[in-house]
Amino acid sequence: MRFEIFTLFPNMFSGVFDDSILQRARESGRIEIFLHDIRAYARDRHHVTDETAYGGGGGMVMKPEPIFEAVETILGNEPARRPPLILLTPQGRVFNTDLAREFAQQPHLALLCGRYEGVDERVRALVTDEISIGDYVLTGGEIPAMVVVDAVSRFIPGVIGDPSAPHQDSHAAGLLEHPHYTRPLEFRGMRVPDILVSGHHAQIERWRRNESLKRTWERRPDLLPRAALSEDDKQFLRALGWRDEQ
Ligand code: SAM
Repeated sequence: MRFEIFTLFPNMFSGVFDDSILQRARESGRIEIFLHDIRAYARDRHHVTDETAYGGGGGMVMKPEPIFEAVETILGNEPARRPPLILLTPQGRVFNTDLAREFAQQPHLALLCGRYEGVDERVRALVTDEISIGDYVLTGGEIPAMVVVDAVSRFIPGVIGDPSAPHQDSHAAGLLEHPHYTRPLEFRGMRVPDILVSGHHAQIERWRRNESLKRTWERRPDLLPRAALSEDDKQFLRALGWRDEQ
């Protein structure tokens, strides 16, 4: 999968994509990340990319011309032949695991990072989607773009060593994941649950499922109405105080 990132601060991305899983994914060619400095497409002598807002008030607004120029140069002049172009904005659809999985189906995805008060409203004519990473405001779209690239990449086959992991992690099936333990068996008086060292795979699976249900019920009951629950799951949850219509 190929990502194109349009930003005023390409240096911010070094480090994040240069280590660990994303670095290996890049080295193996499973993902490619191209950074495009919007400033390089500002044609005036001083490479101006932002101006004060019409109507007054504080804050700067990103000018439309360098953004259109950058996108059209890199992605082409024909909108129908361009990959999806996502504007990162706190006003967009809130990003989640379903969107990450959906974006991972694309062979090519472009991300546009805003700064200051955001982009000139006319830039919305260029973008195909608007994504927020949560109901708070950051100083720029670069960290949101990193979040999207990371979460989407996990769904690309081969990026995560254990291919089942992205589909079992929290949120993948509408539940939080069960707890994990590793060596030592006992640490500062805290022991790994006996069931996990029992060797009974079916019972371990049931324990994990129940822990996952319990965690979700305790921490994020709002997720349960959308989770796929079996009759056993529902029975377990009812014993905890959950009611089907909740
Ligand atoms: N004035 C804008 C508003 O109130 O909607 C906020 C602008 S914010 C300070 C600057 C840039 O950061 C935005 O253009 C966007 O690209 C990015 N940004 C900030 N918060 C974000 C979020 N929660 N999700 C995605 N992008 C965000």
